[in-house]
Amino acid sequence: MFDLAASDQDDLHGGRTPWQPHARRVPMAHLHESIRCDVVVVGAGITGALAAENLTRQGLDVCIVDREQPGLGSTVASTAMLLWEIDRPLRDFVISHGFERAATIYRQSAAAASGLLALISELAVDCHARANPSLYLAAGESGPQILLEEHELRRRAGLPGEFLDHQAVLSRFGIGREAALLSPGSADVDPVMLSQGLLAIAASRGARLFDAQACDFDSSATEAAIELDNGRVVAAKWIVLATGYALPDVVRSDLHSLASSWAICTPPQRRSALWPEDALIWEASESYHYARTTTDGRIIIGGEDETDIVEPDARDALIAAKTGRLLSELRRLRPQAKPVAEFAWAGAFGKTIDSLPMIGRVPGQPRMLGAYGYGGNGITFSFLASRVIADTIAGNERADYDAFSFERDRIG
Ligand SMILES: Cc1cc2nc3c(=O)[nH]c(=O)nc-3n(C[C@H](O)[C@H](O)[C@H](O)COP(=O)(O)OP(=O)(O)OC[C@H]3O[C@@H](n4cnc5c(N)ncnc54)[C@H](O)[C@@H]3O)c2cc1C
Repeated sequence: MFDLAASDQDDLHGGRTPWQPHARRVPMAHLHESIRCDVVVVGAGITGALAAENLTRQGLDVCIVDREQPGLGSTVASTAMLLWEIDRPLRDFVISHGFERAATIYRQSAAAASGLLALISELAVDCHARANPSLYLAAGESGPQILLEEHELRRRAGLPGEFLDHQAVLSRFGIGREAALLSPGSADVDPVMLSQGLLAIAASRGARLFDAQACDFDSSATEAAIELDNGRVVAAKWIVLATGYALPDVVRSDLHSLASSWAICTPPQRRSALWPEDALIWEASESYHYARTTTDGRIIIGGEDETDIVEPDARDALIAAKTGRLLSELRRLRPQAKPVAEFAWAGAFGKTIDSLPMIGRVPGQPRMLGAYGYGGNGITFSFLASRVIADTIAGNERADYDAFSFERDRIG
């Protein structure tokens, strides 16, 4: 273990998260000369790690560049619920995109969540991964009727899940809500162990990891290159941008905006204080609270998002107040749990106008691809990005992922 304060990315998060005690120092080399490779991945969080794993699996010569320790950007602030349900209901997508397109988007997200879990299992990545169901609770204006409509649309789209009425939510989960949708196919992990584990696998296949800041990015029809802060150049056939919420100037997009989010984690609880099935709980409202458990019996609860507080000092100054509100939510959700916050933190949170990630070709840059997960399903979308990007590099670009493109229409 090492002193995280030295590499903490204060602009991306503040406070302490439960993943920090398990983080390891990842060996990174300094680049003293300009080099060449097949693909240079900028950013070694969960998105860059998934991309590097998939690209090295295909036998490509991959370099990864990060200005900080891998996994300690937004990834360490994540509550790491790997949901396939997007934080915008299928119902809303049907209105904006039509049923077939909306169903395709949701199915792609479901396939990404199951693909990610299968990858973790296949590679035996030690990251405390568990497959668990999600419990989507009626909240605010989204009452039983709205949830029933959502359930019916999901059923038509071939997505799994069941509708629970008030009595069923109460008897099965001890939660007094009007209704809920219970769906299989989600998971939770330790996000830092996952990203560092994937990077280690990529490195074992020859990927080179460098400690440097990329300052300049450029590509033509035939080649690409990034310039580092020490003046060295990494030339490549492709650049993959996986810089999280730090969007380089070369990416011009009016789809996304920054917000802030807060979360807490309790000490280990008595088993009887946790809810059944270790379900990933979240609410059917735009500004929702969510909760999960951990393998050592803690409860993580988060939410309280603010779109107009993004400046890091102002965001972090609210940790104490937001902790109080999240503990109140915990008392409401699980009165039998001990309402104590052992960890409390705040993080930058990227959102897009339609709740979908930005994945694929960076406009105006023929050999530059972007992998920007964003939203409540950031990590699920990072997996999707790693597949779309590898397909594009392999010459199998797929049109059915156009809902995620940087140049999609602004459908709100
Ligand atoms: C409080 C909170 C809760 C969340 N909960 C969930 C959840 O439950 N489920 C979920 O799926 N998602 C969740 N998310 C979102 C998820 O955490 C993010 O989508 C994900 O971590 C983004 O990973 P990333 O690798 O793209 O970015 P990061 O982890 O930020 O990695 C980007 C890396 O790029 C590096 N970098 C940036 N610019 C440069 C440069 N110019 N040169 C070199 N290196 C550079 C940075 O140093 C960083 O290490 C949550 C986020 C927050 C804040």
